[in-house]
Amino acid sequence: LVISLGVHFGLLKASDMVHINEAGEVIGGAQRPVSAAGFMIHSAIHKARPDINAVCHTHSPAGKAWSTFGRHVDIINQDSCTFYEIQTVYENFGGVVLEKAEGERIAAVLGDKNRVAILQNHGLLTAGSTVDEVAYLFTSLERTCEVQIMVESTNLPKKRIGHDEAQFTANVNADPVGLNMRPPTGRLLFVQKILDTNSAARQLYIPNSSWILSTRFGSQRES
Ligand SMILES: [Zn+2]
Repeated sequence: LVISLGVHFGLLKASDMVHINEAGEVIGGAQRPVSAAGFMIHSAIHKARPDINAVCHTHSPAGKAWSTFGRHVDIINQDSCTFYEIQTVYENFGGVVLEKAEGERIAAVLGDKNRVAILQNHGLLTAGSTVDEVAYLFTSLERTCEVQIMVESTNLPKKRIGHDEAQFTANVNADPVGLNMRPPTGRLLFVQKILDTNSAARQLYIPNSSWILSTRFGSQRES
């Protein structure tokens, strides 16, 4: 399922999702066009990673700014620990992703455990088992990029969080119960809700149609 083009993200409903197969053919859901680039990236990831049921990608301002450096976010505060050892950088920006091979290369750098890719000169991508998870990871990562840009602007030396503390905090942050307590649960509705209520998400100020969200058909339970 991929969100359809031409509907503002804040107005999207589950019925606006388009059901497409691996060949990109519409086989159900809304009869609307989807982003070709979004399909190339998201389908490759869903194919390569059976554990990944949802993928989120957009050109959010802080993520786009941070992607310029081609670097991981540093583990320098409690919230950034969420991304400890689950992030990767895709360095090979090859223009708008309209080739199957480019989507496959992005899927390849995610490897078999990463859930975050910083696409150099492009933006952020998060992947996970539920829509809730990827939306949470995305908004948290966007905020983390924003904070790191503030930190970098001072030119002062940074204190990094150590391995044990980062791993412990990452485990606490990644706990599904804790994750679900932050935002309300429930498939696409959840995404709309955090965009309405989460201040970090509200500040993303993302132009219409640039969000790409996909989810494996049948993987999200109604709630
Ligand atoms: Zn993009």
